[in-house]
Amino acid sequence: MKTFHDLIEDVQNPGLCHRCGGCVTFCTAVNYGALELDSDGKPRYGDEAKCIECGLCHSICPEIDELDEETKKRLAWSPPIGRVIETAVMRAADGEVRRRATDGGLPRPPPAQ
Ligand code: SF4
Ligand code: SF4
Repeated sequence: MKTFHDLIEDVQNPGLCHRCGGCVTFCTAVNYGALELDSDGKPRYGDEAKCIECGLCHSICPEIDELDEETKKRLAWSPPIGRVIETAVMRAADGEVRRRATDGGLPRPPPAQ
């Protein structure tokens, strides 16, 4: 089973980590301090002894494609970008948000009355 050590080797060391925080958020032992973010937002072991070596952090990392095929299958994905219900281009109005953000979701606008 792969662990956060493998994420360090496969993602962080090659400079592929974009600090989404997914590995920390979904860490099975995060409530026991296994993983944490450093002051720069980079995931790291908080208390390695608390890691139960479940492999979840490695599986869910977007830089690891382990779950891609299963996810596509479950969502009935089709090329080129999957099933699209609606598209929109949006931009945060707050310049400070734009400066600090990488990407992310915006709330879906309410349906037209
Ligand atoms: S899940 Fe996100 S924060 Fe964690 S190693 Fe992967 S890219 Fe970096
Ligand atoms: S407990 Fe699981 S999710 Fe958390 S660091 Fe260890 S292997 Fe990763």
